[in-house]
Amino acid sequence: MKLIILGAPGSGKGTMATVLRDSYGITHISTGDIFRANIKEQTPLGKEAKKYIDAGALVPDEITISMVEDRLSQDDCKNGYLLDGFPRTIAQAEKLDEMLSKTNSKIDAVIKVDVPAEVILGRVVNRRVCTSCGESYNVVSRPTKVEGVCDVCGKEVIQRDDDKPETVKQRLITYEENTKPLIDFYEKKGIVISADNSKDPKTAFEQASQALEKKGFRKVN
Ligand code: AMP
Repeated sequence: MKLIILGAPGSGKGTMATVLRDSYGITHISTGDIFRANIKEQTPLGKEAKKYIDAGALVPDEITISMVEDRLSQDDCKNGYLLDGFPRTIAQAEKLDEMLSKTNSKIDAVIKVDVPAEVILGRVVNRRVCTSCGESYNVVSRPTKVEGVCDVCGKEVIQRDDDKPETVKQRLITYEENTKPLIDFYEKKGIVISADNSKDPKTAFEQASQALEKKGFRKVN
């Protein structure tokens, strides 16, 4: 099963992606995570991507597409995957179709995580993440037991540079401009599944899994 998860920054798509990965036993590919790992390692790709990420802008298509193409060619993608954060532009979506058509394959469903904009801003500026395992917290609704320390692995929990209010506003504008047209792109193919994540992630996941079940995809866990 090949899935895409789409949603504005702070829509909860990362959390939803983790649940989908575990429930359906598919590889989770987050382009944001790959960029952040490269930034941490100070690779040439990371240094280049950081300039755009810190400004709340998108990393150029040619850099992002070749990185994803490389990732999808790896063994753990053979039995399906969940793309999180990619595609983010129509050019990336078209390129993805082109890559998949080479193996007579296609995306089975696009899960669209819906949350009103006013809820999003509050969520993102309160978000904190573990620098080591990536676990996500919220200073209001899900704080760490010890401030700044990850409950899961004990490493440092921080606010992502691009989660600061000014950058978040820019990221929401970037999302509106570039990523929303993707919803129309996939609506035309008839493969969009809506999941309402304005209340709790459980409800959103149930909506998505019921729609996937109708398409013949069953949970493995
Ligand atoms: P995310 O963790 O998905 O919110 O991604 C963090 C940042 O990485 C984004 O704000 C972009 O700057 C960059 N990024 C992630 N995925 C892509 C993509 N598909 N195309 C361009 N830039 C991306």
